[in-house]
Amino acid sequence: MKEEYLMLSVEEALERVLSPFQPLPPERIPILETLGRVMTEDVFADMDVPPLANTAMDGYAVRAEDTARASRENPVRLRIIDNLTAGRTTQVAVSTGCAIRIMTGVPIPPGADAVVQFEDTDQGGEWVAIFKGVETGTNVRLAGEDVKKGELILPRGTEIRPQEVGMLAALGRKEAWVHRRPRVAILATGDELIEIDAPWSPGKIHNSNSYSIVAQVIRYGGFPLMLGIARDDEGELTSKVREGLGKGADLFLTSGGVSMGDFDIVKKVLAAEGKMGFWRVRIKPGKPLAFGQIGGVLLLGLPGNPVSAMVTFELFARPAILKMQGKTRLEKPIIEAKLMDAVPHKDKRRHYLRVIVERQGSEYKAHLTGDQGSGILLSMVRSQGLAIIPEDVDHLPAGTKVPVMMLDWPEDK
Ligand code: AMP
Ligand code: MG
Repeated sequence: MKEEYLMLSVEEALERVLSPFQPLPPERIPILETLGRVMTEDVFADMDVPPLANTAMDGYAVRAEDTARASRENPVRLRIIDNLTAGRTTQVAVSTGCAIRIMTGVPIPPGADAVVQFEDTDQGGEWVAIFKGVETGTNVRLAGEDVKKGELILPRGTEIRPQEVGMLAALGRKEAWVHRRPRVAILATGDELIEIDAPWSPGKIHNSNSYSIVAQVIRYGGFPLMLGIARDDEGELTSKVREGLGKGADLFLTSGGVSMGDFDIVKKVLAAEGKMGFWRVRIKPGKPLAFGQIGGVLLLGLPGNPVSAMVTFELFARPAILKMQGKTRLEKPIIEAKLMDAVPHKDKRRHYLRVIVERQGSEYKAHLTGDQGSGILLSMVRSQGLAIIPEDVDHLPAGTKVPVMMLDWPEDK
């Protein structure tokens, strides 16, 4: 069968799209820029954290045996021989009958083996009265109790969140090796399109796809290269495609020009410059999809309708962008929700309906966000997720439980 007539399931199409993508080469960058990136190196601790045993409390560093019989009625009096504020250490040892005033985090001075917190003292002056005995180790944080020198802390493949950034900082690392971000070229096609600040005239519409797609690329960690609009003209399309290739794109995304009516020109250009397949995918919205490579760069031709472009981006482009960053969890979370609206007779495609989701007790309820036409961008604007209605379901009564792919969470702020 000719490639362009192939009708693929979502899974088949996704498998074909994802398989040629590989994680991109590593780069070494400042740790504050690593958020959301995936590590390409194993990070071992080259020091203990904390580096020295230190106090968990503000108080007095003591020899525990000195405090053994202390009580509020019969306090033990110790002579204060030093005062250690944050960042200070001392060579002075705590000998029997003595104590050193000490602030949280300060290394335990030699001779001391416990800390009495201020609350269990009279706060002290030249001497301090201890009201409560402590045992060896009380209020002492051990060296290496967080991280031990030599330990593997962040294995390659770790996705960096704020806590990993903090850990790199705690280990004294300024930079880290991570997969670089994919550069994603974005090109809209269509004679009817005008720039968003151009004066409107009949027959024209604003190029909104480039903007929603750029935003999606940024959201999922890519670096967008916005190429603007190509007219439905072979020469212009060819030169725009070459411009994108010249900018070092790792992935090429086009929108429009892949529906049956007008895909000939896009097909011609793409076939001339590279190798391209056109498929139909058994989904709604977003049936037509082009995929192939051009100048050695993988290209995904998204449909032109604004909702179809966004939904097929989520299903096919997003996982490819994540895979290039070395990520392995490529799915959006899927929850089960009760769809409160009926779905009337549908065709044999898998439908992705835009829904708003609310949590009621332990269950989620989903409502359709109005008109579900593939040109109704407002249905995306009002939604948080995509309810997935399987191919073999014809009619769905209101109140049926369905899987919902969450693009955003109602609880997220
Ligand atoms: P096409 O796939 O090129 O036939 O486009 C399908 C529909 O999507 C048409 O109604 C187009 O006007 C619309 N469309 C195509 N590209 C864009 C775009 N960049 N922004 C907004 N709408 C678009
Ligand atoms: Mg078009």
